[in-house]
Amino acid sequence: MKVCKTVDEIRAYRWLDPRQSWGLVPTMGFLHEGHISLVRRARGENDYVAVSIFVNPAQFAPHEDLQAYPRNLQRDLSLLEQEEVDLVFVPDDSTMYPPRSQTFVIVSEVAQPLEGASRPTHFRGVTTVVAKLFNIIQPQRAYFGQKDAQQVVVVQRMIKDLDFNVELVVCPIVRESDGLAMSSRNERLLASQRLAAPVLFRALTAAESAFFAGQRQASDLRQIMIAEIEREPLARLDYVSVANPETLLELDVVEDKALLSGAIFIGDVRLIDNIPIEMGLI
Ligand code: AMP
Repeated sequence: MKVCKTVDEIRAYRWLDPRQSWGLVPTMGFLHEGHISLVRRARGENDYVAVSIFVNPAQFAPHEDLQAYPRNLQRDLSLLEQEEVDLVFVPDDSTMYPPRSQTFVIVSEVAQPLEGASRPTHFRGVTTVVAKLFNIIQPQRAYFGQKDAQQVVVVQRMIKDLDFNVELVVCPIVRESDGLAMSSRNERLLASQRLAAPVLFRALTAAESAFFAGQRQASDLRQIMIAEIEREPLARLDYVSVANPETLLELDVVEDKALLSGAIFIGDVRLIDNIPIEMGLI
């Protein structure tokens, strides 16, 4: 497994055999089973697999948890070695954002609601770094988790709008046994907070059940989620949403499909989760 810190090193290795297909898994490290599921999918579908590990400062606002974000590069590298990854890209901040860099990739409409409303500069950081990773590694396929549902929609939009020659592969959410979506940030939860954390998934599944029991009013589905979250004293609601899965705009009435999603704070740890629902899919 080759570990590279610079763009030149990556390019030299990437083009040794131009006929081979490459899959890229972009991550911020502190890897868990969710990340590994993406790596395994990429391993099964490509000749070469590249994983990037970069805690991207551009997608954190100044008050957010950039410094506190968990990191353990040695552990990550040994996990990736076991998964037979070919190339790991671990750039420094100054490699990705050299002094005087001043170019951003901005997706407009689909980046604005939901996470974009709570974190206004987040997606321009995501799309800028993903565009750079696509240009540096030039993968045929890139693997993203459904865990970050809006990220998938935003990156897919960017791929279409900027003609990136990359197939985006979306992988299902990997959960702990109590339903909590795996996340590097779960590491920051204290024991009591960890016990409270599955409330977001419970709220989403309660709304999902109500939908399949015939509830079509989005405001009622939102209220079901809010009520469940409010029952947990350690959780603070950021938002819940019942949105059109393509535009991500809030729905009044759910016709045949919707994206149920939400964000909560437990202490200062922000957790997100979602469940796409569709008639006939249960
Ligand atoms: P991150 O390191 O949090 O930026 O995540 C890197 C990639 O892994 C993103 O595409 C995430 O959506 C994906 N991912 C994170 N957690 C999970 C999970 N629990 N299940 C599936 N994919 C995940």
